[in-house]
Amino acid sequence: MFSVNQLVGLSGQKLILPFYHVVSDEPKAHYDGLYPIKSVAEFTAELDFLVKYFKPISLTELIALKKEGKRISEKCFHLTFDDGLKELYTIVAPILREKNIPATFFINTDFMDNKALFYRFKASLLVNEFGAKGMLDLPFGCEEEIDVFAETLGFSFEDYLQNEQPYLTSSQITELISDGFTIGGHSKSHPLYKDISLNEQLAETMDSVNSLTEQFKLAYKVFSFPFTDDGVGKEFYQKINSQLDLTFGTAGIKKDVADMNLQRIGMEENRSGADIIKAQYFYYVLKKFAGKNQIKR
Ligand SMILES: [Zn+2]
Repeated sequence: MFSVNQLVGLSGQKLILPFYHVVSDEPKAHYDGLYPIKSVAEFTAELDFLVKYFKPISLTELIALKKEGKRISEKCFHLTFDDGLKELYTIVAPILREKNIPATFFINTDFMDNKALFYRFKASLLVNEFGAKGMLDLPFGCEEEIDVFAETLGFSFEDYLQNEQPYLTSSQITELISDGFTIGGHSKSHPLYKDISLNEQLAETMDSVNSLTEQFKLAYKVFSFPFTDDGVGKEFYQKINSQLDLTFGTAGIKKDVADMNLQRIGMEENRSGADIIKAQYFYYVLKKFAGKNQIKR
């Protein structure tokens, strides 16, 4: 109906922040089924669409843009990836390097270096291995039940971690950083923030960001919320505002009253990136006219 340029014009939103977890032609059992996985060809087509209409910017440029608080003059995007999977090193980074597109990778510090496995990945493995579909309905607090279930069935998450090495290692991250990519915290253990206390939210956030900053000597501090920032209150933002440069949510194209919290567009749906972005803009324009395009906290 509308062209991309018309939609951007109507919305007044020139910055977009698409995000993914993984790109692969051979999805692994620990995430297959959790979200639709884009193939290399689909991902490449989505990048071509993005650079056709938007200028790729780095995290440093994005931080500067937000700090200056000026009107953004050019249509631009910054790409981010959550969960710190090894495919970012083996598949995604080579494609981005080729196309000269910067990106930020958000890491769970409890899982980095294959120290432990995200409970949703454990559930996904049990679904793929034993058809135990109900596993995916279990909330964060039920990790022990998942562990007991796996043990009963004789499935070892430890062996899987050792054999598959699903996560980025410190040396891979060092190499990505030296290639110009940026990293940030994604909490330690990937809890659902609205289910944990303010103190736990702060510890999950700051411990993950600070340990990465120290280990990799980062000059910036950024964080993306595990799952969603839905239900995270004002006090949290007040406490972290002076300590972090930017935080990232997953609510699509949306303004946030916490103005250093930027909302991103999830690109893992069963349709093309172009369709996802156009639909996001279309809804934003509708909500703008209805006065519903801002998240209140
Ligand atoms: Zn995540």
